[in-house]
Order: sequence, then C-alpha cells, then structure tokens
Amino acid sequence: MFDRGRRNLLSRRRTPALPRMPWLVDEDTFVDNCTRCNKCLSACETKIIVKGDGGFPTIDFNQGECTFCTQCVDACPEPLFRSTTEAAWDVKARINQQCLAQSNVECRSCGDMCEVQAIRFKLQAGGVAQPELELDLCNGCGACVATCPTSAITMVTRKLEEK
Ligand code: SF4
Ligand code: SF4
Ligand code: SF4
Repeated sequence: MFDRGRRNLLSRRRTPALPRMPWLVDEDTFVDNCTRCNKCLSACETKIIVKGDGGFPTIDFNQGECTFCTQCVDACPEPLFRSTTEAAWDVKARINQQCLAQSNVECRSCGDMCEVQAIRFKLQAGGVAQPELELDLCNGCGACVATCPTSAITMVTRKLEEK
C-alpha cells in the first residue's frame, strides 16, 4: 500500500525530466495512482521504460525506441492510460547545437533511422547538409536519439518545451 503522505510529497505537481509512457492520462493522475509495481518495465518490448525520479517509471530513449506496441498499457493494473486509439503523446524530437552538421561534419544518422522521414537534410552551399525536423511528422518514437554520435537529440513534451 502506497503511503498517502509520501504520495502527496512526490506528487508536488512537477514536470518529469524525461517523458513518461505513451497514452498516459496526465502527470498528476499518474503520480497519484502509480504504485511503482514495475509491470510496465517488464512488459516493454524495447526496454526503454526505466525507474526515474522517486522510482516512478519514465522513458529513456538512450535504451531504444518506442514501437507503440501498447504492452505497457496492457500490463498496467491501474487506471492510468487513455484509449490506445487516441494519439499516443505530444513528445517530439529536438536537435541541439551539438549536431555534427552544425560544425560542418557530414552526418545523416538520425535521418536514416527515422521511419516517417521527419528529419530531412537540406543542402547548404559550401557546407554539409543540415537536418531539419518536421514536427508535424515526428511521432516521438525516439529512434533517432541513440543513433546520434554526439547526443544532440533530446525528446521533449510540449510541457517541457514551455518550461
Ligand atoms: S508502447 Fe511498447 S515500446 Fe513504447 S513504452 Fe510502451 S511497452 Fe515500451
Ligand atoms: S545524428 Fe546527430 S549529429 Fe548526426 S545529423 Fe543527426 S542530430 Fe546531427
Ligand atoms: S522521434 Fe522518431 S519520428 Fe521523430 S524525428 Fe526521431 S525518429 Fe523521426
């Protein structure tokens, strides 16, 4: 049984540093009701769900990508998830200044990994092609994260973007 005082302490309405699982109802409902049973960690086929702050499950895209298999949703005994017929989440990739192309070094690893072709490379006169992210196409799968040799890609939710 989860201690309610401790749950309240942990649920201080904060935004997690890393994204949670897809199809979660919302962060507050999650922190209030997740018992940290770890069933989603065991169920995840790509093992990207890890123990985060306070032992609550969170996604680590350095371990791999989300395939949207829904097994985390199916494994969870608590009412924490929305219908999987709805959009999974508002997680999007973000490319930062550590990108090799910005230092004029040829690299297209992330584009090669992106199934939905959300990362396209735009040729530059006198320089190497630069990655451009099409946010409307990005589904937040995170497949581009681990492939980047300079860790230039992070995955952020709209809430994190607003911080
Ligand atoms: S949908 Fe599948 S791959 Fe994605 S976090 Fe859940 S169990 Fe893991
Ligand atoms: S994989 Fe990383 S370094 Fe290479 S183009 Fe993409 S963001 Fe830049
Ligand atoms: S998170 Fe997935 S869909 Fe988005 S840019 Fe990266 S590989 Fe493409």
